[in-house]
Amino acid sequence: MRFPFALSAKIAAHIIKHKLRRTPKFAMVLQLEPLHTCNLTCTGCGRIREYSTNLKDMVPLEHCLAAAAECEAPMVSVCGGEPLIYPQIEELVAGLLEQSRIVYICTNGTAMRKKLCDYLAAIYSPALEPKLAELLREKLITDKQAGTIRQGKTDGRPVIRPTRWLYWNVHIDGLEYTHDLIVEREGVFRECVEAIKMAKRLGFQVATNTTVYKETDVQEIEDTFRFFSWLGVDGHTISPGYDYDAAKKDMVKRLGRDPEDFFLTRELTVKKFAKILDWGRQFTIFGTPVYQEFLAGRRDLTCTAWAIPTYNVRGWKAPCYLMTDGHYPTYREMLERVDWEKYGVVQGVARDARCENCMVHCGYDPSGALGTSYQRGDHWKNFRYNFWPRPPRYERGHEIQALNGFSVGKGHLAEAKATLKEAAARSGTSSGCGSGDSREREALLARIAAKKEA
Ligand code: SF4
Ligand code: SF4
Repeated sequence: MRFPFALSAKIAAHIIKHKLRRTPKFAMVLQLEPLHTCNLTCTGCGRIREYSTNLKDMVPLEHCLAAAAECEAPMVSVCGGEPLIYPQIEELVAGLLEQSRIVYICTNGTAMRKKLCDYLAAIYSPALEPKLAELLREKLITDKQAGTIRQGKTDGRPVIRPTRWLYWNVHIDGLEYTHDLIVEREGVFRECVEAIKMAKRLGFQVATNTTVYKETDVQEIEDTFRFFSWLGVDGHTISPGYDYDAAKKDMVKRLGRDPEDFFLTRELTVKKFAKILDWGRQFTIFGTPVYQEFLAGRRDLTCTAWAIPTYNVRGWKAPCYLMTDGHYPTYREMLERVDWEKYGVVQGVARDARCENCMVHCGYDPSGALGTSYQRGDHWKNFRYNFWPRPPRYERGHEIQALNGFSVGKGHLAEAKATLKEAAARSGTSSGCGSGDSREREALLARIAAKKEA
């Protein structure tokens, strides 16, 4: 089956339960942001800039668990910031699993191997030696780490263990050259590859999480799927990157520029996702086929942002993961007090100008599953997609030149920093790693494209 039966059945049962009860609005996935601190400063990441990244500003563990219990979403995506920095991440994951949630840990991958070593230490016995030998042979752990693992784990804290209810969801925006440039640190892609290999050796489920931007090379995204399919990952999340609100207004008012020069419009999104249905057949793409048809421009959907709510240090963020018009103390209060009719695009008309170009998964993916904008045969299509056999592993992944940057001696971060400085000087903002202005990302990606042509 494309996805584990128990997971698909759990999600289907949740939808059927609420449909029978005629619940007008309910949560499918909780985006839980326990903190906004991150060890990376990716170009254009608004998250680490919109909120405080001070480690003091964290959601207490019990509030995180209470939020999940309140909204009852069957899936929880633990994101941030970098969730592995959250000091009680193990307790959080254990608590969510105890509540019978499906948990996705959305990570940049840099601290993942450390957590995998903790798991090995917790289960260590001499019977584990062949596995340690295999990991050492493949250079996925060092001799020093093997020594630490052999000492065992005695602090009494839980560890993150493999279960069918858990996925590592690793941020991957392209192959090595592109990815390291976007995350502004050389070696991150390679670390992600090693972490994914190690997680698979230990029996974890792993997915990749990719955002497509205006300058994203679609062929490279396809190669990225092929490469990670070959490594044995269990699925891929893909969503159009879309800039909104403050950045867009600023561009028009202050800089007198046309946002369409920089942002992924609906028209461009449809072009970038022209092959999404084909990808859905070849790879285990997360998301409903109805949403995939929407991305490919074959049908319309209505935004159901209330189905993927975001909870963070300031409360329940409304109306959606992208836009912030307010925060509410409870999910119930947010559902009742937000005028949901003000948002989204209906029959081509944006109810809110900021929604005009949005086609992101957190607004529209649940629409497909929930049967809003229903067309005959949709339920069968979704059922068939989830319960049908999984596409086979891509066998020729070794032919993909995935390590095409830092690993083969192309240091290129200096070039990236120079581009950032240029962008900062042009806009009069401070320089340094990514100001949140998406033009920086565009400039970086344009450089990659130019370099490739050269
Ligand atoms: S996009 Fe990058 S900087 Fe932002 S939270 Fe994720 S890893 Fe950190
Ligand atoms: S369409 Fe929905 S998800 Fe997209 S920005 Fe508007 S409210 Fe948010």
